[in-house]
Amino acid sequence: MTFEQTGLKPELLSAISEMGFEQPTPIQEKTIPHLINNKNDLIALAQTGTGKTAAFGLPVLHNCDVTKKDIQALILCPTRELCLQISRDLDAFSKNLRGFKNIAVYGGADISKQIRELRSGGQVVVGTPGRVHDLIRRKVLNVSQIRWMVLDEADEMLNMGFKEELDAILAETPAIKQTLLFSATMPREISNMTNKYLHSPEEISVGRKNEGAANVEHHYYVVQAKDKYATLKRVADNYPNCYAIVFCRTRMETRDVAEKLMEDGYNADALHGDLSQAQRDYVMNRFRTGQLQMLVATDVAARGLDVNSLSHVINYSLPDDPEAYIHRSGRTGRAGKSGISVSILHMRETGKLRHIEKIFNKRFERKDVPGGEEICEVQLMHLAEKVAQVEVNDSKIDPYMPAIMAKFEGLNSEEILKRFVSAEFNRFLAYYKNAPDLNVRGQERKGGDKRGRRGDRGNDYNDNGMNFSRLFINAGKKQNLNASRLLGLINEHSKRKNVEIGKIDIQRKFSFFEIDSRFEKELIQSMNQSSLDGHSLEVDRVTGEERVSVPKIKKKKKTAMDQPRAKRKRTKR
Ligand code: AMP
Repeated sequence: MTFEQTGLKPELLSAISEMGFEQPTPIQEKTIPHLINNKNDLIALAQTGTGKTAAFGLPVLHNCDVTKKDIQALILCPTRELCLQISRDLDAFSKNLRGFKNIAVYGGADISKQIRELRSGGQVVVGTPGRVHDLIRRKVLNVSQIRWMVLDEADEMLNMGFKEELDAILAETPAIKQTLLFSATMPREISNMTNKYLHSPEEISVGRKNEGAANVEHHYYVVQAKDKYATLKRVADNYPNCYAIVFCRTRMETRDVAEKLMEDGYNADALHGDLSQAQRDYVMNRFRTGQLQMLVATDVAARGLDVNSLSHVINYSLPDDPEAYIHRSGRTGRAGKSGISVSILHMRETGKLRHIEKIFNKRFERKDVPGGEEICEVQLMHLAEKVAQVEVNDSKIDPYMPAIMAKFEGLNSEEILKRFVSAEFNRFLAYYKNAPDLNVRGQERKGGDKRGRRGDRGNDYNDNGMNFSRLFINAGKKQNLNASRLLGLINEHSKRKNVEIGKIDIQRKFSFFEIDSRFEKELIQSMNQSSLDGHSLEVDRVTGEERVSVPKIKKKKKTAMDQPRAKRKRTKR
């Protein structure tokens, strides 16, 4: 089917053609002719990214009487961001439709400006339930004559607790109108809602109920809980061009993961409920425009964020509700592109994954966490590609060329290229040198992870049965210590090379790191006699119970283990 065959007005056809819409998407193919020719209510089960805004927007615009300035359609959606997105889309579709105006009303913004806009008139109001209800109560918004009522992302509106507002708003609308309900999922509450508000609706569904986008692959890794962050870094390093939302469960986790990523030099930021609206807008805008590569967010904060070109959705923690997983993964693989939904699980989360698989009716693919060598190869090729594609500004570079050429005198082009690539690549080589295997191998079991347990002597065991010791060092960010500097120090002070290094945790004034227990003694001894930029280093071993404390190191000969517990100074992390 073509857009011309749907019967849409020429003013709309020209606008969407300018927007590059060549063919209706499946949901548009079904809804547009239905809404143009039919007055029945409609339930459309569609994921975000399927073109549903045009699916309801175009027929509403087609039927609107632009000679009148009263409200003819009310579109309700869960968030300010989605509201603005729909309003922007309607502006674009109606660009050649003279006399048409849509008004966006949403919370967290100046109400008097919205009141002025409503008073100046328009045919469509797009709003969030709280603000719409408020404006109806203030008698500024009159919905008693509307002909169309659209409930977009109805499941999200209910999840966000807008049921009361929805009831109150719907009570103000006329009995005779066409109601369109769009939802990605069909929980019982939505069925109840459709029974209450929709009259003999037609049901349209693109894809099966509760099925994610067909072009999304679902991958998962199983690691120890303590290795989740390291795994996230490996995933990011293994996909250097990734553009992803990293989903966390809590605000604290979101903040924590985003801060670590930023400290480690990734182009990331956090989106969570503790941010002001201005901060949210700032972060979202940077993500939308591609200035941020990774957005770490909670489910609630990411609602309404409309980005169509995500390459990955990363589930740093799985949601409790399988439907939230469907929403998350539906954010990638949009507008005909393919995408990957990655879940980083620890052993106890595999049960949750099985439950999601069951509801999805899909097996997810277990993948191996990429190893250091694999990542270094990916990064090397990425770097080579970047250098090959880089735009050279001849006029700016040319004046420096003689001096630069002089520096490389005697080197052939292959040698020069090697040096340029190494200048950037060495950082990855250093980080991934001796990188441990993070995969938890063997049977996925219900009750937890045998290997992941911390030993009673404060050691972790890796897959080769090798022990890790956790060490404390009295230097942190304040002393300009970062992971790669610490790796450098460890390499410098361990006589034997290829010492296995585990988790590194850099705090403000101190840090923790894990190393192969066999080299613990020699490393502690050597590091304790050294300094970092004039700051005398103190290194000691910590036991399992001391994960969140700083051992007090008085005398270098005594270890933290020798001190009575009560005397050890505790510091909150
Ligand atoms: P939506 O599900 O409404 O958020 O739409 C997802 C994306 O697909 C938006 O960027 C739309 O501009 C785009 N889109 C919608 N319909 C079409 C179409 N028929 N052809 C190409 N792109 C479309």
